[in-house]
Amino acid sequence: MTRRLTMALPSKGRLREPSWALLEASGVSPQEPGERVLQAHCRNADIDLLFVRADDVPEYVQDGVVDCGITGLDLVYERECSVEVLLRLGYGACSLQAAVSSEDVATRVEDLEGHRIATSHPRIAAKALAERGVSAEIIPVAGSVEISPRLGLADAIIDLVSTGSTLRTNGLRSIGVLFESEAVLVGRVNSTDFEARRTLTTVLGSVINARANRYLLCNVSRDRLDEVTAVLPTTGSPSVMDLATPGVVAVHALVPAADIWSLLPRLEAAGASSILTLPIERMVP
Ligand code: AMP
Repeated sequence: MTRRLTMALPSKGRLREPSWALLEASGVSPQEPGERVLQAHCRNADIDLLFVRADDVPEYVQDGVVDCGITGLDLVYERECSVEVLLRLGYGACSLQAAVSSEDVATRVEDLEGHRIATSHPRIAAKALAERGVSAEIIPVAGSVEISPRLGLADAIIDLVSTGSTLRTNGLRSIGVLFESEAVLVGRVNSTDFEARRTLTTVLGSVINARANRYLLCNVSRDRLDEVTAVLPTTGSPSVMDLATPGVVAVHALVPAADIWSLLPRLEAAGASSILTLPIERMVP
């Protein structure tokens, strides 16, 4: 029998909403999803949820307070916690970048030699600079890293960036990416809950895979079928079915959601018509 799992979820911040949405889409949302609830049981699954700050999740998992949890990969590395990354979740994407004021002459991370660098990720920053042979003074700050140069606290910053708009707003320019992050499901190292974990990663993974793909349907005359299949960016074989109209077939295929934009005009040019794309609810490859 599978054991009951305990799982830590971000109680606030950027990762809260998408993490709750992932559970909801997986059919295992909390039974009492109130703002102030600290613990809840999942609907339809033997999982107890504990709502904590994303920063605290790596320690909670490492110390066995919970079996697994959702947090940012950057936080796992920054906290230097010994946990296992069970699944990349496809949201919360950002990168730790070095940035200087727009007027600064620095153009590469290597140009930060001897600089004072403010960051809320001192451990990752120190490691990344050391790997590049850069010797600099790291100034740990808890938040609002991007205003440090204007305050005269630092010459440069190392901070999380997703769109780059915060950097631009603060007159800063990126000079290099040091670490790529996204939300991850982490579990205890050497856990023996194989079955419960596999169930959880399969169910959450099926939603993540589904989100990244679309189900595509189109019609094409049989004599142009090769042109259409040549355009499809699928790894598997598309399904081809005869239609009631002689000489015309329907093509069904899974395609990456990110390719739809460029794919539709190319399919049309290859002779496809009645093109439909549908969202997928679950996908286990
Ligand atoms: P919080 O501080 O609780 O809002 O969560 C911060 C976490 O969200 C970070 O540790 C990252 O994993 C993730 N994240 C994604 N995009 C960004 C961003 N632009 N700035 C800061 N954190 C981000």
